[in-house]
Amino acid sequence: MDVTRIRRILLQQAEGWQASGVQYVHKQAAFSLPQVESSPPPTQPETPVSQGPSEMPKAKQQPAAAASKPIELSRKPSSASEPWPSELAKFSQQERQQRLDQLREAVSGCTLCAELARTRTQTVFGVGSPTARIAFFGEAPGADEDRQGEPFVGRAGKLLTQIIEACSFQREDVYILNTLKCRPPGNRNPTTEENENCRPYFERQLEIIQPEYIVCLGRFAINNLLETVAPIGKLRGQFHPYRGSKVVVTYHPAYLLRNPSAKKDVWEDMKMMLSDMGIPIPKPKK
Ligand code: URA
Repeated sequence: MDVTRIRRILLQQAEGWQASGVQYVHKQAAFSLPQVESSPPPTQPETPVSQGPSEMPKAKQQPAAAASKPIELSRKPSSASEPWPSELAKFSQQERQQRLDQLREAVSGCTLCAELARTRTQTVFGVGSPTARIAFFGEAPGADEDRQGEPFVGRAGKLLTQIIEACSFQREDVYILNTLKCRPPGNRNPTTEENENCRPYFERQLEIIQPEYIVCLGRFAINNLLETVAPIGKLRGQFHPYRGSKVVVTYHPAYLLRNPSAKKDVWEDMKMMLSDMGIPIPKPKK
């Protein structure tokens, strides 16, 4: 593959990140080469990844091969104490949806984790309302999610849906996302490198939605969002600040499938959130 083609591929990926508001990439990720098909380069200029409005200045459309300036994306990971960006808070449901769609597009072509990009069926972005008051934040897609392209649709997902409905919501009322957008093969644990590569994506998703509450499901989600290794038992029962949101820490639905006695603890966590939201506590169904 010639240098011009490598440069074009890198530039397209960088433009996709920039147009969708991703403001930094993990330092090593910035140097990993996307997988490329072996077909010859197209003779026509390719369609830019980014389309539609964005609050970020759009990358100038120029023939990628001619671009010689270094790509500057990098800022830093958001810190939990940084407030939500106020310019995004004013956006309508439709405007937020447009930004999420743009980000979804950038994520769908991501090849930063070579193994995950090679083994996935598709990326699993997120689903639900772009103005949701609550975001449910999980770990990584499993086999069912990888097949269907939607988070939490397998056995653990069905249990999550029951939890959401027990809180008197529908899946469409909340937003559901994962730390990782690709399924780790064989459902192995995500690596630190993979978590860091995917971090700008979930940070940006949450930044667009700005949910009042983020329910962290299980250890991996908690480690990644709150950047703590404290055990769940120590973190439950109180709200943790993350930017402008209140984080509720609870057990992962897959853990509940193995340990049904912990369901009552999850219900306690949901009740804590519902009372804080001013929502009457529904009676659990028999
Ligand atoms: N477990 C997760 O953490 N996320 C999913 O989407 C499915 C299972």
